[in-house]
Amino acid sequence: MLVQIESPGARPRLPEFLRKPQSEYQAVTALKRELRSLHLHTVCESARCPNIHECFSRKAATFMILGNLCTRGCSFCSVPKADPKKTPFELDADEPQNVARQAATMGLRYVVLTSVNRDELPDGGSEHWAATVRAVREALPEAQVETLTPDFNGDLAAVERVLAAGPHVYNHNMETVSRLYRRVRPQADYAQSLRVLRYAKQAHPEILTKSGLMVGLGETDEEVRQLLRDLREEGQADIATIGQYLQPTRRNRKVARYVEPAEYEAWREYGESIGFKAVFAGPFVRSSYMADLVAHEAGR
Ligand code: SF4
Repeated sequence: MLVQIESPGARPRLPEFLRKPQSEYQAVTALKRELRSLHLHTVCESARCPNIHECFSRKAATFMILGNLCTRGCSFCSVPKADPKKTPFELDADEPQNVARQAATMGLRYVVLTSVNRDELPDGGSEHWAATVRAVREALPEAQVETLTPDFNGDLAAVERVLAAGPHVYNHNMETVSRLYRRVRPQADYAQSLRVLRYAKQAHPEILTKSGLMVGLGETDEEVRQLLRDLREEGQADIATIGQYLQPTRRNRKVARYVEPAEYEAWREYGESIGFKAVFAGPFVRSSYMADLVAHEAGR
């Protein structure tokens, strides 16, 4: 069912089911202060995630490594973008240890890592990725680590470098359906992202694989089902997440529709019927939302 969006050009008013009370200001401010003191970033802040108050108050956060500037220009994303030829990009050699230290301070039992794209680096940042996974595992041997990775331009040696560091869940988001890639993820490639996931599953079957997509970008129901089938075609993904796209800033792509809560249930049932171990779907679901519970449901 389509929820009507108001006047063209204006940011649409959110339907009631997408209004989330934000009350944990103290928890958010305190955690932001700790993160800044170690020069750390989170995608929670950079992507203006609507769950930030809820997650920060339960001491959950997704660390975003490799800096706070991205080399790509995906139209849904509010992480700052820049051209590395014109803007010096940072690579903080202390970041792996600082992420591990902060995760230990927070007492995390499940650590989610993600990064910006660093297409200008010869290894795509994969060694830095691996160093961060190793540092977290060393500091928190009891914790589980989920890596929400970029596509590394399809460089499977880079993918392998991250996998060899020993994450428990390897996550790579498809983000949207094949037809919308050119407008939503212009520097990415649908088949390439599927290949990355296929490699991860085939090379390391013991590691859970996961992928997420946003709805409300202009896709059809059948295209969503096709994407779910593509993720299961060769068993690439064990877990799928599906959530509503929300326009983070006026510069980002507009929301095409607000998906009614009941539709997520149908996708969840469909996904489970074609072999996913877990499908987490709902208006506020993000790839890293309640990642510990989702991994647990899938058998970790
Ligand atoms: S859902 Fe993920 S990105 Fe959003 S606040 Fe929670 S941990 Fe951060």
